[in-house]
Formats: sequence, C-alpha cells, structure tokens
Amino acid sequence: MDINTRIYNFSAGPAMIPEPVLERAREELLSLGGIGMSVMEISHRSSHFERVLNHAEQGIRDLLDVPGNYRILFLQGGATLQFEMVPMNFLRPGQFAEYVITGAWGTKAQSEAKRCGDARVAFTTKDSGFTSAPTQDALRFSPDAAFVHYTSNETIEGVEFKYDLDAGGVPVVCDACSNILSKPIGVEKYAIVYAGAQKNIGPSGVTVVIIRDDMIERVPEGQFPMLDYRVLAKNNSMLNTPNTWGIYMVGLVCDWLKEQGGLAAMKQTNEEKAAILYNAIDSSDGYYRGHAERASRSVMNVTFRLPNEDLEKRFCDEATLLGMDGLAGHRSVGGIRASIYNAFPKAGVEHLVEFMSEFAQKNG
Ligand SMILES: *Cc1c(COP(=O)(O)O)cnc(C)c1O
Repeated sequence: MDINTRIYNFSAGPAMIPEPVLERAREELLSLGGIGMSVMEISHRSSHFERVLNHAEQGIRDLLDVPGNYRILFLQGGATLQFEMVPMNFLRPGQFAEYVITGAWGTKAQSEAKRCGDARVAFTTKDSGFTSAPTQDALRFSPDAAFVHYTSNETIEGVEFKYDLDAGGVPVVCDACSNILSKPIGVEKYAIVYAGAQKNIGPSGVTVVIIRDDMIERVPEGQFPMLDYRVLAKNNSMLNTPNTWGIYMVGLVCDWLKEQGGLAAMKQTNEEKAAILYNAIDSSDGYYRGHAERASRSVMNVTFRLPNEDLEKRFCDEATLLGMDGLAGHRSVGGIRASIYNAFPKAGVEHLVEFMSEFAQKNG
C-alpha cells in the first residue's frame, strides 16, 4: 500500500477526521496564517491563538445554535474528567442527582459520581442488556434532584436517544461524546452538554463543555481551580496552557461542517449512511443480528453480531485486508461495531455492506 493511502477507519474514537481538514492542517502546519510558526509553537496568550480559540468557539456556537447565556469551554481530561467535575461542582452534601443509564458510559458516569455523593439511578436498561433508550414518557424525575445526567449516544452498545431529554425543570447534563454535531439539538434544553473531541469534533485531548451561565454561578467556593467551572470560564479556558493544537483542529472541523451545509445536512447524510448498514443487517436473514432495538439504533455506532465469535474474528481480519479497520466491538462486549461519524464517507459504508453480503454467502 502506498504510504499515503488512507483506509476506511471504523474506529469508535479517536476516529476519522475529514480529509480536507487534515489537508488544511498540513498546509498550515509550518506557518499558521503566514506567521512563521505552527499553532503548536505559539504562545496561548498571543493574539494569534486568541483568534484560533475564538474561531473554534464561534464554530461550535454557530453549528449548534448555542444561546448567548451559555459558555463554551475547551478543557482537558476528556469526558472522563467531566464524570468527576460535574458531581464535584453540582452534587453537594445533602443533595442527590439522578442518572439515566443506557450503557457502559452512563454506568461509569454514575459510579464516579457516587464518590462525591448521592448519585441515584433514575432509570437503567441494564437488565435487558442495554439494547434501548427509554421514551420520554417512561422517565420520571424527582423535582428536588440537583441534576439529571444521561448519555445521548452510548458508543459501546450503539444505543441512541432520538430526542432531547426533558427533566421537567431539573438541570439536564448530557454526555454527548459520540453524537455531538451529528444532528441539530436544542442546546437551550440543557444545563451542560459535554463531549471529548475525538469522536466527532477533532483530536483527543480537548473536551468541549457547553454550560449555562446559571450553572456557573452555582459552583461552590473552594474548589480546586482546575476543576472549577467558574474559574475556567472566567479565564476563557486558559487557566493553564490549553491544548492549542486540539482547539485549532476543532475550528477546522467546524469550518468543514459549515461547508457541508451544517448540522441539518449532516443529520440527513448520517441517517442515509446508517440506513444502508442497518438494511444490510435486516436483510441478512438473521446472519447479522443488530444489538440495539430498532427505535434506539445509533446513527453513529452500528453494533451487530455474527453467528459466533470465530466468525466475528474472521470478519474483522478479512475486512482489514480489504482496507477496513476498527470493526471489532469494544473489548467489554465483543461483536462488531462500525462507527460512522460525520467524517466517515458513504463510500466506506457501501464498501462494508458489499463485504458483509459476500462474507455471509461464503460463511453462511
Ligand atoms: C468515549 C466516550 C467517553 C470517554 O471519553 P474520554 O474523552 O476518553 O474520557 C465518555 N462517554 C462517551 C459517551 C464516550 O463515547
């Protein structure tokens, strides 16, 4: 293979970045906008970087239509640190929070929050194997909860909410790691939306946190500054040296998304791509079995099984030889997972579906 040939990368994260974005980053790598330095070499306090940061922030704000009373922060520590920061800041002694759990990440978020305080499970699909997301009608929250937390797309199981969860006035915190920017959402319905960038926004090492002003005001005194949303917001995400490269890449990805027509256009393309794959599963006479129930099928992470684990391994091995990588399911659940985020091309989905059909015929 030519050293510059790119393959179809189905990895769940870090995941594909749009090729035009990589090209542009390459063009600007040695000298950002003609300043004679790369974005990794300039001071984060310089006017050059201020422009980079503002550009990334404006990109997210425009694409998601983020209202003026929300701050957009670029933090480090991934979504995993948000599992800790959210309860550290908002689950105070005497309070309780409610978690909706539809998969592995929600499970982890709640178990981290329990270190801080009374993090309750308001709803879980654990007993049915995390194959669905509840309808809004199935959910009941206590009006006294400090916040409600949920995972809009469970990356490992491939289970997605098709609506913005409403908690009847209780602040809603959403882990949107693996479907943020894949479709329009109503940011105004949330107190906090957070996402590590490496699934759908850019490279790892930068976490986008969209937080409403009144939540920032609610942060108690005496937190460690690096874990204090108020201090981080006041310092415009630059309490310490931020991930300058990551933030720059977020800005470029946002530019690309705007060129594609924004999130309404992405939603349509993403749904088309997912439909091709789910149709292949559904028309395989049971050879391929989807993990998620139909109504909760993720548009981003398509999870399915083959008749046995040996075949699943062979499937991944043969796919790799055909230029398709990253198809093995998460180590905790096995099976196959095709992650098809914004940057994943439709041609790659068609390539996979063709292979699936041939594989089923040969090994059926
Ligand atoms: C990947 C992922 C995480 C963990 O993200 P890190 O940035 O690695 O901490 C959390 N939640 C969801 C839904 C994810 O997909």
